Amino acid sequence: MTDHAERARFAALNRRGFLRSAAAGTVIMATQRSVSADAASAVKIESPFDGAILNRRHGNPVDGGLSIPVVCAAPRSSQVTINGQPARREGEKLVGQAVLREKVTEIVAVSSDPADRGADRVRVVWDRYSQPRYHFAVDDNIFFLRDIAGNRYASLFDCFYLKILRDLHQKYGTRFSVNIYFASEDGFTLPEFPDVYKSEWKDNAGWLRLAFHAYADSPARPYQDAPAEKLISDYDRVAEQIHRFAGAEVFAPPTNLHWSMATPEGLKALGRRGVRVLSGYFQPSGGRWDINYNFDARRSEYVSKHDLWMDFESGILFIRDAIVCNSTPVDRVAATLDPLAREPDRRETVNLLTHEQYFWPFYPAYIPDHAQRCEAAIRWATEHGYKPVFFHEGLLGGPE
Ligand SMILES: [Zn+2]
Repeated sequence: MTDHAERARFAALNRRGFLRSAAAGTVIMATQRSVSADAASAVKIESPFDGAILNRRHGNPVDGGLSIPVVCAAPRSSQVTINGQPARREGEKLVGQAVLREKVTEIVAVSSDPADRGADRVRVVWDRYSQPRYHFAVDDNIFFLRDIAGNRYASLFDCFYLKILRDLHQKYGTRFSVNIYFASEDGFTLPEFPDVYKSEWKDNAGWLRLAFHAYADSPARPYQDAPAEKLISDYDRVAEQIHRFAGAEVFAPPTNLHWSMATPEGLKALGRRGVRVLSGYFQPSGGRWDINYNFDARRSEYVSKHDLWMDFESGILFIRDAIVCNSTPVDRVAATLDPLAREPDRRETVNLLTHEQYFWPFYPAYIPDHAQRCEAAIRWATEHGYKPVFFHEGLLGGPE
């Protein structure tokens, strides 16, 4: 196929993807109204958080819906209704219920105080069919593609790295999202990767997907302040190559960007490309929040404590990485993950993350037992009843 024909085919694929995501976006947009509290209002919804992802562990089933507690702060003199129902006072707080029946529900608290006719609104997402599930992402990939392109193996899995992933898949059913660069530091680029493995990629697409991660490993933080156009241009270059050498079945939207940083405009552009979920560390560092897609302290702290949060602006759901396998020795894996299984807010969806470079003996920071570290995390998830999924499918890998 000529370059021109290939580009035209890719543009058509992209248009179809865009139309699908635009159609999905309508549902959210239809419910979208101002969610900020009226400026003068003293009534504030403290819980649930705007953008919370709620499942059966957060409420009680009622007549095809989920009844969840709503807690507000309001002056002592105020009567408050929550979605039209009077709230009751418990000390300093007003408490009521809201029933979730749709994927996205708006909760409105209205004060009847004549001096304060204010209101506050939040929107929450109902993970109606939630079950324990995990996703495994490998970031920073390019070495294995260079290795296969250079050696022209008979099979993709003659590359020891892909064989490790396949062995883990065969043993545990794990699905891997492999997030790739366009170029390596020594000048190898994806257009050099041959398309002779297309049928083998396709045969394994049920558990092995390729996604964009960045143009290259350096510079660090490539999209922290970059214009959306730069991010999307890099995204499209990688996506085009995945379609060329592996096929549409193998392509997936990324679940993580390099360094997990982007601008609000960049995130919106990714949402329009069909990105559904992005992960990050959401950790405090030097007195501020970092590896958090530039979200403010309030929202970053929320993700750090509750692991999930929906950004209605971009339509992307954010998840905290539960573990970074390359930096967690085997004997620390259980201690890192055990708290998740104990906390109702965190126990349904777990993102396991690692980075390709630590598998390679030539890499200065090579970790000889990297595969064992990954296996320990996967074994923990398996033994705790988590099912392997791709988070970009459905609602975090589950039905919507
Ligand atoms: Zn990265």
